[in-house]
Amino acid sequence: MADDIEDVSFLPGENLNRKSVYEPSVKQRCKQLVCSKARATAIVVFCAVFILIIAIIAAFARSGSSSCGKLNTVLATPTPNITKEDIYATNGDIFPWQDIRLPDTVEPISYDVFLDPDMKALKFSGTVKIKAKIKATTSLIVLHTKNLTLTTVLVKPITLTGPSTKRSPIVVEKHLEFFKNEQLAILTDRKMYPSARTGIEIIIKFNANIVSKLAGFYLSSYKTKSGEIRHIGTTQFQPTGARQAFPCFDEPGLKSTFKMSIVRDKKHIALFNMPLNKTEDYKNGRVVDRFQESVKMSTYLVAFVVCDYKSKKGKTKSGVDVAVYAAEDQIDQVDFALKVAITVLEYYDDLYEIKYPLPKLDLIAIPDFSAGAMENWGLVTYRESAVLYHPGESSDSDKQWVAVVIAHELAHQWFGNLVTPQWWDDTWLNEGFASYVQYLGTDKVDPTLKMMYFENETYSDLSRDSIQNKNFNRTIVISVMCQFNQLDYVPTCCIVKLIRAVPSNKQSEHDIPSYFHLFIYIGRCGVNFGQGGAGSTYDMGELSPLVPLTTSMKIFPLTCSEDTVWITDYGKVITRKSYIYKYEEYNQHKERGRVAFITYCKIDSQFLYFNNGEQFICKTLQRALSRDSQKTSHPIQVPVHNPDDINEIFDTISYDKGASVIRMLREFLGKEKFMDGITSYLQQYKYGNAVTADLWSALSKKSGNTVDVKAVMDTWTLQMGYPVVSVKKSGNKFILTQERFLSDGSATTKSDESPFGYKWHIPFRYTVLYKDGSTSTGMVWLHKGSAEISVTKDVTLIKGNYGMYGFYRVNYEEVFSPGDRSGLIADVFNLARAGLVKHTTALDMTKYLKKEEELCPLTYTLNLVKPIQTSLTWNDSGEPLQKYLRSNLLSEVIILGDGDATKKGRQLYDDWMTKNTR
Ligand SMILES: [Zn+2]
Repeated sequence: MADDIEDVSFLPGENLNRKSVYEPSVKQRCKQLVCSKARATAIVVFCAVFILIIAIIAAFARSGSSSCGKLNTVLATPTPNITKEDIYATNGDIFPWQDIRLPDTVEPISYDVFLDPDMKALKFSGTVKIKAKIKATTSLIVLHTKNLTLTTVLVKPITLTGPSTKRSPIVVEKHLEFFKNEQLAILTDRKMYPSARTGIEIIIKFNANIVSKLAGFYLSSYKTKSGEIRHIGTTQFQPTGARQAFPCFDEPGLKSTFKMSIVRDKKHIALFNMPLNKTEDYKNGRVVDRFQESVKMSTYLVAFVVCDYKSKKGKTKSGVDVAVYAAEDQIDQVDFALKVAITVLEYYDDLYEIKYPLPKLDLIAIPDFSAGAMENWGLVTYRESAVLYHPGESSDSDKQWVAVVIAHELAHQWFGNLVTPQWWDDTWLNEGFASYVQYLGTDKVDPTLKMMYFENETYSDLSRDSIQNKNFNRTIVISVMCQFNQLDYVPTCCIVKLIRAVPSNKQSEHDIPSYFHLFIYIGRCGVNFGQGGAGSTYDMGELSPLVPLTTSMKIFPLTCSEDTVWITDYGKVITRKSYIYKYEEYNQHKERGRVAFITYCKIDSQFLYFNNGEQFICKTLQRALSRDSQKTSHPIQVPVHNPDDINEIFDTISYDKGASVIRMLREFLGKEKFMDGITSYLQQYKYGNAVTADLWSALSKKSGNTVDVKAVMDTWTLQMGYPVVSVKKSGNKFILTQERFLSDGSATTKSDESPFGYKWHIPFRYTVLYKDGSTSTGMVWLHKGSAEISVTKDVTLIKGNYGMYGFYRVNYEEVFSPGDRSGLIADVFNLARAGLVKHTTALDMTKYLKKEEELCPLTYTLNLVKPIQTSLTWNDSGEPLQKYLRSNLLSEVIILGDGDATKKGRQLYDDWMTKNTR
């Protein structure tokens, strides 16, 4: 996800106009028809006649259909008057249904699936029996199937409630398949009518191969320590894989209960969403596992696995059985995941105020898996690296990764599984919400790690004090040296040298020797750098002409903002995913060309994965702000027509911006009201489906209707981009105005491209520091326009977006002149020295210097920094924290253009390259 944290991801398409892309469902069509009727008498008359005809038809039908349902009768029944171009089934017949969405005429109630997988021949056969009710008169049933050979298709009349009555049989006249839409059409010999008491049972027998395709029911395998290959039959159904395992109504809004029976060899086990009910003997010495019936759920959340895994088990306080499954050789690596799952599940029970609704939760490691993990209800599947933790061998960041992914998937067990989006266009909310709540869940895994510690603090806490005192596990300081080609400044080679691992607790001290003065080589960056993927093996000698040929090494990705760099330490992972602290400087230096720079990077796995409040700001929020400032961005929420598009268009906007705007919402509503609203939404729609507006409505109610959540959030989810709030001082007021922020300053925005004219409802949180040393904080709304903040005393500084909860940028350009700005820097450093403000506040202020262009404030800042840098010298000596400070200051003064420091840096680099001195 983030990135590969994500289970299958979702995202809406590119087109903002819902109706042009998303053909209305039958229900919507009905609504539109009814509305238009009122407009003209002729239409009213026509409709009266129309409804009368329908009423007559309905009178012959059984009771129970709504007037809308009656309209459906005509709309959904196949007619020869096809307005679009005909489409043809595999046998050449006209296929009677053209919409990619299923008709609203037949609704599944329950599935009974029998599967007989042959793990040697890699085939499976099965039978599905689907009980369904008829919602509108029809002789056509359309459902999904893909890559299955159907051998029998039957439809039987059944009694749903009350005493069973004998009814005449239904004959399937023909069944047709249309590959492109993955649909099966069953045409019956007679019409089926809506009824509360009776319905139908669809019985389909089928068979297929089990192949390694990572979707549907597919083949995975692993090697035992003795080298034997063992097969695993497993599933990945989100978004449209269920139809590849058994024919079904494969839309998230069509929830049903599921009964499952799986035939297996005695040496195997079978797992399903629900616990085993009983095991019976079957043919040829095999057995069949029959599982308990599931709760009402969507098809994409069904899962089953056949394998020979072992497990470790535990129980939550409320009695839910939790188990983690892995291959026997790896079963000693599941203890941490088991502990995390139990801890997080218990926490979410309290957080959501709804108990986890299933009797068991299994987590299972799957060797071949397309995503990071998948939140199947009660049977969560994980890529091995997202669930296995080997004490002593896995890195700390691996451990934290496991906690984060488990917390993400378990958040979905309520938000997504219990209440499910009606259709895929609202899945951004699922993913955005889980991506935010995972921070809360991970925080509970080990409170001593203070994962949310930074939630109310600012970035400057990444100072030496914070490293010393706040339980950072390890800080690794490295230097990066790159050579660029002269034409387009693509790095042709980068070398990373590990300078120091700084421990701050006893447990990690024994790790130091292995990390000390170790060289790490980075391969070629830039255009060719993404080849291979995580875990690929490169010959570093070939990639990097500046370093001696070494053995073949395993390379792992080091994520830094949009770029990807690869890091290795001779096959042992130092940290799987990390962050280059000075990334912006990296980019700046890139422009200077060949053999460019020396800078220092900081990698801190604890900071990244456990101090999540802070991680959110520096990673998720900043990444979303960066992507969404481009003209080519798109709104979070846009229509999805074809579910196949979902994976392709899921990106950082839906994922990171989704989580960021949810975090902003939680902040302006207040944490308690936010969670109250979530609980009430889950209660209201449990075992059902909802749309985003349903959640906004629940949250508005819990705010006492003081905030129109829908009106506010629509401006953030239905239009792309975000605002920059300009702060201008005018007398004793600050005037706040907004406009869309674009990273390309020359780009223009046409306000009529957006439904809200690129204006937002902005919760502007701020803090003011007065000249007398006192401070005050507050919040004002910019309701698609401007706002004012009045102050009564002389102000030293104002900081907007206080706490970095908002999804916007702040421009203070018109508040202070260059003279004021250098004065402010001087004031705040002197105030800090006098103990009137925190040092962190003073350091915080220097962050704006990235954008400073005026001589005066930059010179003043250099004057502050230069004496410290000089006293620290260029010698790589002293205490670890002193070295860390030196590396940061050196890179700062170089970036600020200090001639002496740049010259010295280049000279040292040349010496290292040519004489190997350092
Ligand atoms: Zn997710």
